[in-house]
Amino acid sequence: MTTQHDDTSAPVLSVVIPCYNEGENVPLLFGRLMPALAALGVTVEVICVNDGSSDDTLPRLLAMQKSEPALRIVDLSRNFGKEKALSAGLAHSRGQTVVPMDADLQHPPEVIGEMLAKWREGWDVVFARRDARTGQSLKERVFAHGFYWVFDHLSDVRLPREVGDFRLMDRKVVETINAMPERSRFMKGIFAWVGFNHTEIIYHQGERAAGLSKFSSVKLLRFAFDGLTSFSNFPLKVWGVIGAVISTLAFFYILFRIVRTLVWGIDVPGYESILASVLFLGGMQLLTLGIIGDYLGRVFDEVKGRPLFIVRRLYEPGDGR
Ligand code: UDP
Ligand code: MG
Repeated sequence: MTTQHDDTSAPVLSVVIPCYNEGENVPLLFGRLMPALAALGVTVEVICVNDGSSDDTLPRLLAMQKSEPALRIVDLSRNFGKEKALSAGLAHSRGQTVVPMDADLQHPPEVIGEMLAKWREGWDVVFARRDARTGQSLKERVFAHGFYWVFDHLSDVRLPREVGDFRLMDRKVVETINAMPERSRFMKGIFAWVGFNHTEIIYHQGERAAGLSKFSSVKLLRFAFDGLTSFSNFPLKVWGVIGAVISTLAFFYILFRIVRTLVWGIDVPGYESILASVLFLGGMQLLTLGIIGDYLGRVFDEVKGRPLFIVRRLYEPGDGR
């Protein structure tokens, strides 16, 4: 990682695009992205991160590079997932500003001009917020609401609503993110955590240009849980409180039983209530262990200190292949 604050040869804008099996979208993307970038009249670089695609994404990007001297391709050694692919793109970016966007044209490149204008006014981060017309299924809406509600209540970081990874960041923000050593890359949270002064623009998010979303419901749920546990210790700590409440209640119950036995003698024991409480407590202990296990696994991942991503090859324009 290099710092290039004073590098006058650095482009004004880096666009970072993680691509996983987006072969069909490559020509569509460049057909729309390049004219939009040319209209900005600033020096740009486009960094496409091939996240271990199994389709023809890489050959298509390489073919594109022959006619696009601003295109740099970071080829990862396997599929690392969108968050790490994005981290790889940020680490390779050199621009004074960086805009991450999706390869499926759900993020309209035409609004980058508006973001740049805000940056020139002195803002370090310019969010792009989805407008109300952006279609979401009921399932997605319920899921998103639930997630934000829980996240807001359990973590100190405030996630802006209807804001994804599509945003413009000043170089100093990107350098801060690049310097963050954590393996667990919940980028929404990381972007919010670093702070800096920010403003927003509104955009309309369209449908995916070609292909299907790379995130299934299960993957999304896993992602949400990951995000939560990397930004909150609440699930880890809450069991202490619950345990304390239960043992206090149990203590008074025992006192009550002793006094009752002394006064009235032993009566017929209630097996069902004993069984119920044992099962209930056993279940809770297993759940707690599971949560502790999850955090422990996370600590283990961090301690191993493996690289976030592995670059198989960096294809620079005109490097004589
Ligand atoms: N992506 C990636 N690696 C993955 C999954 C997705 O680089 O393992 C990229 C994908 O190619 C796209 C972006 O992340 O450019 C967003 O993915 P997608 O459009 O499937 O997500 P959605 O819009 O449905 O949230
Ligand atoms: Mg998409």
